[in-house]
Amino acid sequence: MVRTCDYPGCSNKDVADSPQSFHRFPVTDVALRKLWVLALGIHVDTKVEKIKKLCVCSAHFSDDDFLSTCPGQRQMKKRILKKSAVPVDYYLYMWISRCKDPRFTW
Ligand SMILES: [Zn+2]
Repeated sequence: MVRTCDYPGCSNKDVADSPQSFHRFPVTDVALRKLWVLALGIHVDTKVEKIKKLCVCSAHFSDDDFLSTCPGQRQMKKRILKKSAVPVDYYLYMWISRCKDPRFTW
């Protein structure tokens, strides 16, 4: 069965030619798990057994959220998230990045 990203509104699938990597919820780090739950708009009382089956694709993380990989490695499928990474809305992330750009004016 093909995994699909569980981020709201995202339909990326974990298929062979997918440019995205897929990442499971952090279940052992309670504080980080809560941040992921909030980021995905999941009810805070949702059972861990259900949460640990969810996954989020790499579209919801910035490049800084990943550990660096060796050049020449099949990077997208081997990408490893830093332990502090929290998914964000890609478009929100782009908007925030743009606001931080000193060339951006209101
Ligand atoms: Zn996604």
